[in-house]
Amino acid sequence: MPLLSIIVPCYNEEDVLPQLFQRLSGALSSCTSDYEVVCVDDGSRDRTWQLLQSQHKADPRWRVVSFARNFGHQAAVSAGLWYCSGDAAVIIDADLQDPPEEIGRMLDKWREGYQVVCGIRTRRDDPIIKLLLAWSFYRVFSRLSSYPVSHDAGDFCLLDRSVVDVLNTLPERHRYLRGLRSWCGFRQTAIQFERHRRAAGAPKYTSIKSLRLALDGIFSFSTIPLRLATFSGFLVSSLAFLGVVFYFVQKLFAREFSAIGLTPMPGFPTVIISILFLGGVQLICLGIAGEYIGRVYEEVKARPYWIIAASAGIDLRSRSPASLKDELRVPTREVGKCENLTF
Ligand code: UDP
Ligand code: MG
Repeated sequence: MPLLSIIVPCYNEEDVLPQLFQRLSGALSSCTSDYEVVCVDDGSRDRTWQLLQSQHKADPRWRVVSFARNFGHQAAVSAGLWYCSGDAAVIIDADLQDPPEEIGRMLDKWREGYQVVCGIRTRRDDPIIKLLLAWSFYRVFSRLSSYPVSHDAGDFCLLDRSVVDVLNTLPERHRYLRGLRSWCGFRQTAIQFERHRRAAGAPKYTSIKSLRLALDGIFSFSTIPLRLATFSGFLVSSLAFLGVVFYFVQKLFAREFSAIGLTPMPGFPTVIISILFLGGVQLICLGIAGEYIGRVYEEVKARPYWIIAASAGIDLRSRSPASLKDELRVPTREVGKCENLTF
């Protein structure tokens, strides 16, 4: 019987966890007999860790790793993919916005031979501004990136072990899993579902976090912004050149130009305007280049993508991240309590 892993990133989710335990366990027992749930506590400051630990005691199929601080949703999901051992893995949010009852349909597609099954949101109960931003982001992203990402697919998906293994070998730190998922290839399909409001608690994806994710998506999947910077440089230079030609001709034919109301003006405000304009364009181009350089810097530093402070039911020793090269970089003990980690 194949093992199914469910990966649940949790950040300050104490309000919703009791409902999650009940609904996810119910949905899973109706579609498979062999499963594990890997919950990743992303540095929560509420009772998330305690609740997850007691759930592990009640049902050892629920396993937990807890980060030393908040590393973000994409890191939490990546850790879940790293520590799970299933033949297939399902990524699902803790807040029950992704209905656990849909996992059965995903499994059916997997049994048909698909290696990636994405959940497409047909209806979203999110604030209008979020819907609008998400709508524009997906359209910009698919124009810029060479790897198409379906417009309304979130992180809710099923991945076959072969895909999980590929994702686990990728060393990059600025992860945009939806992009990486389609970059992997394999046989992909989708199921449709309705996304409701979160069952309890407040959203943990702040606007800043969402913006960071969107920028990671664009900058790690496309170098077109760099080309745009070059293009805008050319455009502005051409405009400046045309301006020079215009003023030269205007000086030569000052009388004719005066007759049509274009008298040459000494110390004209255009100087200020063009300086501001050029300065702005240069700063934008520098900023775009900086986004890439910053990401290269992060990757070169090669710091661990997450730090684990505690775990329950997971043998960390057997799974220290290969991409982090040596075991010194990642705690190898199953801690249970926070210990000082040496790097
Ligand atoms: N989450 C996380 N780390 C974070 C932010 C969010 O692990 O820094 C988790 C959160 O607990 C939830 C999922 O990511 O399970 C989605 O977060 P949220 O519901 O706040 O995002 P939204 O659905 O509003 O996009
Ligand atoms: Mg949510």
